[in-house]
Amino acid sequence: MTLYGGIEAGGTKFVCGIGDESGRLLESITFPTTTPGQTLARALAFFAGKPLAALGIGTFGPVDLRPDSPAYGRITSTPKPGWANTDMLRPFRERLGVPVGLDTDVNAAALGEHRWGAAQGLDTFVYLTVGTGIGGGGMAGGRLMHGALHPEMGHVRVPHDWARDPFAGVCPYHGDCLEGLASGPAIEARWGVPGESLPADHPAWELEAHYLALGVANLVLTLSPQRVILGGGVMGVAGMLPRVRALVLALLNGYLQIAAIVEDIEGYIVPPGLGTQAGVRGALALAIGAAFG
Ligand code: ZN
Repeated sequence: MTLYGGIEAGGTKFVCGIGDESGRLLESITFPTTTPGQTLARALAFFAGKPLAALGIGTFGPVDLRPDSPAYGRITSTPKPGWANTDMLRPFRERLGVPVGLDTDVNAAALGEHRWGAAQGLDTFVYLTVGTGIGGGGMAGGRLMHGALHPEMGHVRVPHDWARDPFAGVCPYHGDCLEGLASGPAIEARWGVPGESLPADHPAWELEAHYLALGVANLVLTLSPQRVILGGGVMGVAGMLPRVRALVLALLNGYLQIAAIVEDIEGYIVPPGLGTQAGVRGALALAIGAAFG
């Protein structure tokens, strides 16, 4: 059996896993993201001595993904202390001596969903995760979305009604961008307690659904995805997904007469088919791509 390694390198935690070409996870480890030196050493130790054919890394970012750039594989302007300029690629390539596929954490998850999850058979779709941060990736025309860098869908601007929500937002770069208003840390800063301790009928969740629906509607109008996959801890809140679906329909207001949307919103805005394993299994998919690249 050929083995592949995958790393979901998140800003809060790293998930390292080993799997086969069917995307089955055989072994995995999760640990908190601390300093770059400590965290990457722990990941390297997990894979050391394992007979891998290739490794895939889905990393938080922003990250330089242009293969012809001198900074290829490096984290760029992250607000995460100590991580700017961290090389996410070469330490693994050099120490493990295998091909390494690298992309954003959300593009990796999107690839996993495309291969084994909720986006099978589609060529244009979005994967958005709502948790410690908000990030989005996906495919356009059958290819993972890249470009000048890569999409940063969490930092789009959404209308902010200061009378309804006088909270200024937590994004260190933009204040009240979507991530600034609707990420887990935004919920905690606005209400003074972590989202986990807010009851399901708290007004926090209607406001949260409102912002997420604005973000999703913008993505639907901009990218014309065939499906939108919504993952991350905040989407696990009871009733959040149905609320977002209803508000997206209300915002679009009948403008897009697409049967997939107006007749089957439950099949259009969906949870990840791979659940919480989308990130690490997506990284396995990146590894498989690197092995055959
Ligand atoms: Zn922002």
